[in-house]
Amino acid sequence: MADGPGFRISIYCAGCSHHCKGCHNPQSWDFDAGHWMTVDELLDIIKADSLSNVSFSGGDPFYQVDAFTELARRIKAETRKTIWCWTGFTLEEIQADPSLSRMLPYLDVLVDGPFILEQRDTNLLFRGSPNQRIIYLHGAPPDDSIPGTVPLVPLR
Ligand code: SF4
Repeated sequence: MADGPGFRISIYCAGCSHHCKGCHNPQSWDFDAGHWMTVDELLDIIKADSLSNVSFSGGDPFYQVDAFTELARRIKAETRKTIWCWTGFTLEEIQADPSLSRMLPYLDVLVDGPFILEQRDTNLLFRGSPNQRIIYLHGAPPDDSIPGTVPLVPLR
């Protein structure tokens, strides 16, 4: 419930090279810190939960862009869940790199940019510093209301 509006299945990937000072999750920087799971294994977990939408976090999912693009593509093809994704890259950096930007069509919301400790603001929803943006990638807030979940939290 902390990783976006309503109930969500959060996938915390291992590995992040942004190394933001004050990162909330520095144990996730190590690319060998987690355990391997296949796209099929993750999809089985996601599809078994009919109430929750999906969040990609970490770590930074864009360092495993092949697998997360395939996972996001299949979530969109096989469920009606929304996907929020956190990344230390900015949207502009992702858009400028075709190897990264191919994940964007399958995401509903991107929370972008590095955490800047000097700008830390605990009043912000779903992000740590105001440079980080909550970007609706398809022009409007997604419908995160799967029946049975709590309503969409108003964003600020
Ligand atoms: S991008 Fe996120 S996970 Fe990576 S170092 Fe920055 S705050 Fe931590």
